[in-house]
Amino acid sequence: MSQKETALNKLEAFDRDFSALLKKYESENPFQRPPAITEPEDLEQRLSEGRYLLRPCGVEFRSDMSGQYALDLFELLLEYMPEEGDGLQAIQEKFISGEVDRFKLLEFIFSNQGPDIARIVRQHGLSFDLMSMFAVYYGRPYRAHAAKRLLKDVDLKLWTAGYCPVCGHWPSLSHLHDKEGNRHLWCLHCGTIWPFKRLTCPFCLNEDYQKLDFVTPETNEPYRAQVCSKCKRYVKEIRTNLPLDDVPFDAVFLGTISLDAAVRQEGYIQESPLNVRYEDPEGNELLLYRQQRGTCSGGSPEDEIE
Ligand SMILES: [Zn+2]
Ligand SMILES: [Zn+2]
Repeated sequence: MSQKETALNKLEAFDRDFSALLKKYESENPFQRPPAITEPEDLEQRLSEGRYLLRPCGVEFRSDMSGQYALDLFELLLEYMPEEGDGLQAIQEKFISGEVDRFKLLEFIFSNQGPDIARIVRQHGLSFDLMSMFAVYYGRPYRAHAAKRLLKDVDLKLWTAGYCPVCGHWPSLSHLHDKEGNRHLWCLHCGTIWPFKRLTCPFCLNEDYQKLDFVTPETNEPYRAQVCSKCKRYVKEIRTNLPLDDVPFDAVFLGTISLDAAVRQEGYIQESPLNVRYEDPEGNELLLYRQQRGTCSGGSPEDEIE
């Protein structure tokens, strides 16, 4: 077996084990107090205005679940990423000793407080990249559970933005159905998949085909990156004929890190996985406003718990 095949098999195994772990935690309610949900009409109104749905105000996490899930997740990451063992164990130790308060961390993750997570990383001398990855996966069953509740009766066709309709993060992958030609974006943070226009940049909504291009790996792989010369962002894309539910998004996301490096080398910018907006003077202001409406500190009173 070639080195590449071994790596791919390992990722597929990770995807399978991680999906099983998620299922275990998604099937039960992981919240002591879940995010508020309003009527489907109200949610659809929000979607049509480009305001994502998840508001973290007043949320409380179940203590038994948040502890056990962290342990299970560390075990899984250590098994599949032995080369990052030292860095992961350093985070795990801070967790187990209680030096990193898991409830505070979950709260920061859930309400997108990237700078607070960065502060914890600095304070304890941890790896920012590993902590970001851990944070994304640690928040996942909570966000995925909330996403399922929020999207139960709403039509995602109302959503036309490039960021996630549930949690506001930028897409981590795009999927293009080879036969049918329709495109969907995938959110790493909550697992939501939503339809999106094919020849459009998810970050700045640029549709000028002369400013959109693809970076493809030298080998004949079913993935590539759509790059936008207007905002300098990119999104990785996989082409398959699989039904969306069967696309191994996590495995593809983790398995295409070499493509990220190639695209960055061409001058494109990779968003931190913790970002919910980008540093464009126009887009930033609008999204900052949206984000603040979704958190407890900056929203108007009627936008908080309903
Ligand atoms: Zn999301
Ligand atoms: Zn763009």
